[in-house]
Amino acid sequence: MSENKIPYKIYLSEDEMPRAWYNLRADMKVKPAPLLNPGTHQPMTAEELEGVFCRELVAQELDDETPFFEIPREIRDFYKMYRPSPLVRAYCLEEKLQTPAKIYYKFEGNNTSGSHKLNSAIAQAYYAKRQGLKGVTTETGAGQWGTALSMACGYLGLECRVYMVKCSYEQKPFRREVMRVYGASVTPSPSDTTSVGRKILQEFPGTTGSLGCAISEAVEAALSAPGYRYVLGSVLNQVLLHQSVIGLEAKAAMDKYGVKPDIIIGCAGGGSNLGGLIAPFMGEKLRGEADYRIIAVEPASCPSLTRGEFRYDFCDTGMVCPLAKMYTLGSAFMPSADHAGGLRFHGMSSILSQLYHDGFMEAISVRQTDVFEAAEEFARVEGILPAPESSHAILAAVNEAKRCKETGEEKTILFGLTGTGYFDLVAYEKFHNGQMQNVIPTDEDIAKSLAQLPEVL
Ligand SMILES: *Cc1c(COP(=O)(O)O)cnc(C)c1O
Repeated sequence: MSENKIPYKIYLSEDEMPRAWYNLRADMKVKPAPLLNPGTHQPMTAEELEGVFCRELVAQELDDETPFFEIPREIRDFYKMYRPSPLVRAYCLEEKLQTPAKIYYKFEGNNTSGSHKLNSAIAQAYYAKRQGLKGVTTETGAGQWGTALSMACGYLGLECRVYMVKCSYEQKPFRREVMRVYGASVTPSPSDTTSVGRKILQEFPGTTGSLGCAISEAVEAALSAPGYRYVLGSVLNQVLLHQSVIGLEAKAAMDKYGVKPDIIIGCAGGGSNLGGLIAPFMGEKLRGEADYRIIAVEPASCPSLTRGEFRYDFCDTGMVCPLAKMYTLGSAFMPSADHAGGLRFHGMSSILSQLYHDGFMEAISVRQTDVFEAAEEFARVEGILPAPESSHAILAAVNEAKRCKETGEEKTILFGLTGTGYFDLVAYEKFHNGQMQNVIPTDEDIAKSLAQLPEVL
C-alpha cells in the first residue's frame, strides 16, 4: 500500500481488538528471576503471595510459560469503553522536524484517568471482585494509577484505599478529587495511619514521600484489613501482561498497513507501558523472526537502568515486600522532590531488567528541562498536551528523527504516548517560570543507597 494511504489515525474495529494478553516471559530463554521471600530469601510460593495479592493475579505473576491469557469478557467490554486507543501517524511533527523518518505514536491518554494504567487497573479490580474481596489498597505516585484504580473499583463496586505520595498529593489536588469522585479514600504518604509510615516520618521528618514508601504503607494497610488485598500499578509481571494490550493493538494496526517499526521507544518508570508496548515486537525478536531497536527512556533524576545495579532489592522503602531482581538504585534512594514526572521508582520491572541485561534493549536517561521543551514542541504541532512522563519518549523519538534528517535514513519510529498532562500544569508552570531544575543524583548518592541493598546469595 502506498505511503500516502496511511491515515492520521489508525483505529481497529471492535472485532480486531485483542482477545488475549500476551505473556512475553513465555518466549524468554532466560526467565526473569523469581520474587524472593524477604525473610528466607527463598522463591515466594503462590500461597505466600496470596496473603498480599489476589489469587488469580498470583497465578499470572508466577506463570513464565503460558504465552496467552484470555481476556475475560467483562474486561473486554470495559476496554471497549475507551479502547482501541488510536495509533497516530505524526505527520505534523515529521513536517515540523523536516525529517525523512516516519513517526507513529500509540496514544493511551483518551480516558478519564488520563493514562495507560486503566488497562491493568480494570483487570486487577476484576480479579479481586471475582475472588469475593471487599476492597483493595494501593499507592500512587503522580496520581494516574490511583485514579485508574478508583475508576475500575467504582465500576465494579469495590472499596479502594489509595496512599498518595505526599508531594503529588499537595501538587495535584485535582487528581485527589477525581479519585474521590470514583469513591476512593486518599491518604498522603508517609502518614501516621500505618506503623511503617510513622517510622519513616520519624526518620525523615518533612519528607515529601516516595513511591517505595507509599507501597509499604499500602501493603501494611491491606494486611491489617480483612477482605482486602494490595494491588500494584507497575513493575510486576502481571501488570506487563495486562499492558500487552497496548502493543498487540499497535502491532495489529501497523500490520493492517504493512508498516514495520525500526525503532520502538517508551518511557520507563516501573516498566509497564514500555513492557506492554514492546511485548509482541520483543516476542518476535526473541523468537528470531524480526529485529527491532528498542529504547527505554528514563529521567536523569531517577536512572535505574542506566546507573543502577542488576541485583535483588526491595520494591519498597519499608522492606516489607518480596525481593525482586532488577536494575535498582536501592530502595533507600529518594529521588528529588521537584522532579515533575511520575517516573520516580527506584527499581525496574524484572522482565525488562533481564531483557536489558541480556542486550535485547537499550536505555537512555534524559534531563527534565529537555523533556519539557520536547513536550511543548510536540503539543504545538500534534495538539495533544502530553504527560511529562510520556514526554521522555517524545524527546527520544524527536532525537532519533533528527538523526534521520542528518543521515537521510527513512526509519520508522513508534513511541508510546502514555498519557495527558492536564494534571501536570504545576510542572509546566515551573518550566515556564524558569524554576525547573535538573537535579541529578551524584555517584555518591547512588552508592550510598546501593550500599544498603540486601545480601542475596
Ligand atoms: C505511571 C506512568 C508512567 C510510568 O509507568 P510505567 O509503569 O513505567 O509505564 C508513564 N506514563 C504515564 C502517563 C504514567 O501514568
